[in-house]
Amino acid sequence: MYSFNEIIIGSGVAGCRLALELTKRGHKVLMLERGREVEVSRAYLCYDVVRTTGVELWRVIGVGGSALASLGNANTPLVEDLKSLGVDISDEVNEIKEELRPTAISNSFLGDRAKLLIESANKVGLRHQTAYKLIRLEECRGCGLCAFGCPVSCKWTPLNDLEVAKSHDVKLITNFHLNSIAKRNGVWLVKGLVNGVEKCFEAVRVIVSAGALETPRILKMANILNAGEKLFADVFITVGGPLHGRRFRDEVPMTFYIKLDPQVTLYPHISTFLLPYLASKGVFTTKEELLGIMVKIADDCCGKVGDYVEKSLTPSDLRKLKKGEEIAIDILAAAGVNEKEIAVTHPRGVHLGGSAAIGDVVNYEMETEISGLYVCDGSVLPKAPGAPPIMTILALAKKLAKAICEE
Ligand SMILES: Cc1cc2nc3c(=O)[nH]c(=O)nc-3n(C[C@H](O)[C@H](O)[C@H](O)COP(=O)(O)OP(=O)(O)OC[C@H]3O[C@@H](n4cnc5c(N)ncnc54)[C@H](O)[C@@H]3O)c2cc1C
Repeated sequence: MYSFNEIIIGSGVAGCRLALELTKRGHKVLMLERGREVEVSRAYLCYDVVRTTGVELWRVIGVGGSALASLGNANTPLVEDLKSLGVDISDEVNEIKEELRPTAISNSFLGDRAKLLIESANKVGLRHQTAYKLIRLEECRGCGLCAFGCPVSCKWTPLNDLEVAKSHDVKLITNFHLNSIAKRNGVWLVKGLVNGVEKCFEAVRVIVSAGALETPRILKMANILNAGEKLFADVFITVGGPLHGRRFRDEVPMTFYIKLDPQVTLYPHISTFLLPYLASKGVFTTKEELLGIMVKIADDCCGKVGDYVEKSLTPSDLRKLKKGEEIAIDILAAAGVNEKEIAVTHPRGVHLGGSAAIGDVVNYEMETEISGLYVCDGSVLPKAPGAPPIMTILALAKKLAKAICEE
């Protein structure tokens, strides 16, 4: 038996930040991670694509979690919504901003695709806004491989937090297969396989940070049966087509955005998924010729996590996607793409959350109905942010760690 103040299950954005904040305040912390350690540049090897009833959900299983593949976008959505639920993270958001210093994308950093799309959006009467990134731009070589794992490590990832936590002696066990989690005589017991051998760890508190698709399953092991409802994904599609004869160079995606309304946002983005969709329309082209726009929506929280994951698009989601698609086509046409040669990818989602929401499954202190069992990750977010959530999740983790240490 091994004893800790806290056991954190999952080493993603929330898990690593919790480990950092708790260990630096002197807590003895064990982090149990299902996946393995992987270099940031090889994050693509750990992708896990979950096909559901309507939307393809993408995540990364491994130390660092999905943010290893992030595009570095640094927004702070849902701060006001959380405040209205009694969770004020304004201080923590400021502290995280101060610490990570997101950088505004300057005009000189924009690639040719982004510049052309801004010009074309202006032609159809739309104004863009600058994106902020957790990327050291002076080191970025603009290869556009952020979602595969940055090859030059100039993007912030949870591994930065983990490094600090390791310097404060966090214990990390990888390739951990969780078997059970239960409270006995006031102590939490977490059992699972480590290299095929069953081990039991005990702690005063357990924090589940396994991401929106796994956290509810773990909570159900502890008899929290209402977990797993209200899953959202910030669903997106990519709309695009070729500019024949152009050879665009690689560039960092999502360097600006156009907010059509609070629920629908457009970003510059190309996806090689467009190529087979275009080919099926008889349009043969290459990645270098492609111009594309991501349409991202704040989707309805209607997914479910059980043995399988259900995530369909509601009529309202479809309307939002259609609105974005039509405007994306106008912009692409203004850029010179032939409207008949524009294709749309299938819907995907990478901002997963809502499945153990504050107000439903956990209280405003992120604690479940069983004392000492907490949740902190995207699953506690009360609704789809419609914008990149990493900074908000980091602030929530910081808030929870402070509250635990003040107890
Ligand atoms: C391609 C891509 C691009 C993105 N770009 C951005 C962006 O630019 N900006 C932004 O803000 N957000 C972005 N996101 C979203 C962001 O990465 C996620 O919202 C965020 O990582 C979620 O954090 P989390 O702590 O909830 O879960 P995760 O980071 O997914 O962490 C969960 C962890 O738990 C582990 N785990 C799972 N099951 C178990 C288990 N049973 N036992 C132990 N461990 C387990 C996983 O391996 C993982 O390490 C992107 C996501 C993807 C996939």
